[in-house]
Amino acid sequence: MKDNLHKLHKYQRVRNHPKGRRDLFMCMDPHCKHRINAIWLDGRAAECYYCGEEFIITKKKLQKQGYLHCDNCRRGGKPPSLLNLEDLTNRLGEIL
Ligand SMILES: [Zn+2]
Ligand SMILES: [Zn+2]
Repeated sequence: MKDNLHKLHKYQRVRNHPKGRRDLFMCMDPHCKHRINAIWLDGRAAECYYCGEEFIITKKKLQKQGYLHCDNCRRGGKPPSLLNLEDLTNRLGEIL
């Protein structure tokens, strides 16, 4: 079964729900149709949206994150281009 290609699900909050619900999450894998209510996710292992590492989902993550991710990727909210720009500025400062 293609649905079992990945061991852990990678969760995204369901947006634009017809009834405005914010407590539903779905797996982002294109082959996976897994969907789940947030109350079943507390304490479960999942795959980080950003780094792909396994982590444990907490209530706090379920409230705050649109894409569930691990603690190492807390700064993941920033778009990558912004991070690169910061990096570049630092390096320029070292050179000049
Ligand atoms: Zn899945
Ligand atoms: Zn991560």
